[in-house]
Amino acid sequence: MKLTGREKWLLFWEGIITIGILVLLDWSVLTIIDQVVHTNESFQIGIFEIKSGLSFGPEDLRIWSYQWLGILIIGGLDLWVLIWRLVRRYRALQMDHILSELHYIAAGNFKHHISFKLNNNLQEIIDSVNAMVDAQIRAREDELAIERSKDEMITNISHDLRTPLTSIIGYLGLVENEYDKLTPELVQKYTHTAYAKATQMKSLVEELFEFAQMQQLDLRLNFEKINLSELLKQLSASFELEAQHKNLSIVTASIPDDIIIDADPDKIARLFMNLIQNALKYGTNATYIKLVSRLEKNFVEVRVINDGKKIPAEAVEHIFDRFYRVEGSRSTKTGGTGLGLAIALGVVEGHNGSIYATSDDSKTEFIVQVPIIQRSMEKLNAK
Ligand code: ADP
Repeated sequence: MKLTGREKWLLFWEGIITIGILVLLDWSVLTIIDQVVHTNESFQIGIFEIKSGLSFGPEDLRIWSYQWLGILIIGGLDLWVLIWRLVRRYRALQMDHILSELHYIAAGNFKHHISFKLNNNLQEIIDSVNAMVDAQIRAREDELAIERSKDEMITNISHDLRTPLTSIIGYLGLVENEYDKLTPELVQKYTHTAYAKATQMKSLVEELFEFAQMQQLDLRLNFEKINLSELLKQLSASFELEAQHKNLSIVTASIPDDIIIDADPDKIARLFMNLIQNALKYGTNATYIKLVSRLEKNFVEVRVINDGKKIPAEAVEHIFDRFYRVEGSRSTKTGGTGLGLAIALGVVEGHNGSIYATSDDSKTEFIVQVPIIQRSMEKLNAK
């Protein structure tokens, strides 16, 4: 920290005034002692006795006889007082600097850091203020990112709803306005297309609704004890027919046979349904889908594996983002909305777990880890 010219003057005058006060003080004390000693004979005798008694060493050194020693002691004390007052004043100036920096920050300069360093415990205040500024910057950046992603989401939703809606209005408009000129086959074709688009819109709205629900999962999860191995078996059975159509096998394996966990049965079923549906939808040329669950110490790990076409490495880190789709964001061939994995992530987070994906030429795996026991259930059981 650099002192301003005014502050240096302040320190200088503090020193001068202190020296003046000390000189006056010393002088008055010495005068008083001198007066007392000279007007009181028994004092003089007493002091003489003490002086004669205090002799040191083989030479009988009488240190009381040395006047310079008294001057040294008084001078030492004065010096100590002078330094103490200057240090105190210097620290007060440092505090003033910190305060003026704080006022500057409080005036709206929330990104301002205190740049000077001090080599005393006031540095802790500076470090705390700087840490607060950093936290504030991070919070603002997070807020902006959330705002941006909300805007993006609204744009995506509007686009995804408007595209099928435009087709529906177009085809139904043709049927409405040109009905007399259209052959029955064309009417059927147009109404069919409009129906297919309306169905696509419905599934998007449903996914959106589910996604919105996931954002408030902590309020909505109904945990209970479920047999996860059993649930995965049932799910795999329900997709068997679809899998057969695609010429692939769907199998489950569980170690141990029954794994009991605290979970919301509907949401956890939805999570694995999304993963199995994706494996069926996107696992091009796959020959199998495996659901492998394993009980670890205090969590369970479920791997949903298929040996289909790999997910490009650059896409793997984005597939859990909402509206992200590998095959181009607006491809309707596979009929997805890009919300399936965002919903899956929401469910896993609601269960205090984690989910990630790995993909290479031999297989694609989605690995889900969730705790066996949910804390909120522990509280319930304790009641
Ligand atoms: P959607 O709801 O459109 O199906 P998801 O969020 O479920 O979207 O998936 C995001 C992207 O991840 C998809 O576009 C797809 O390309 C890719 N993906 C998801 N699961 C798999 C899988 N098992 N194999 C290959 N790609 C996958």
